[in-house]
Amino acid sequence: MPPPDAEEAPIMSETGNPSRNGDGERPERPSFESIYMDLARTLANRSTCIRLNVGTVITSTDYRKVLAVGYNGNATGLPNKCDREEPGNCGCLHSEENAVINCDAPRHVEKIVFVTHLPCVACAKRLINLGNVRQIYYGEDYRNRDSLELLKSVGILVDQLLE
Ligand SMILES: [Zn+2]
Ligand SMILES: [Zn+2]
Repeated sequence: MPPPDAEEAPIMSETGNPSRNGDGERPERPSFESIYMDLARTLANRSTCIRLNVGTVITSTDYRKVLAVGYNGNATGLPNKCDREEPGNCGCLHSEENAVINCDAPRHVEKIVFVTHLPCVACAKRLINLGNVRQIYYGEDYRNRDSLELLKSVGILVDQLLE
């Protein structure tokens, strides 16, 4: 009889491994990482931005709590579209930005962030200032990768999670 989920060894070590080793049961059992990245991708479907659809999930480091979610788009109550079609200046709030706004977990709570695309530099700084973000998982790469060095310089782990 396998132990219940609550008694498992640290979950963070299971990155990229969809099954438990050794028990030979349910090899399709998904990792928490893939579940939360799937949730970020599902949230991205709510984006109203014509340029890029991005979703973000912020969880506790034991993966037992979703602390906040976000996706990119205009501010609440405004028209569900970009302000303009200008690349890089469409007026939409970024997905990570909205997730940070939505996150009321205290600074001291350690967090893991799942985002469908590599964050831009401004959102990387927002995630830094959210406090105690330990790890960021992203899906799609971005043409500008400056945020990678920035996040690493403050000790935040960054890894790509491919579908
Ligand atoms: Zn937009
Ligand atoms: Zn951004």
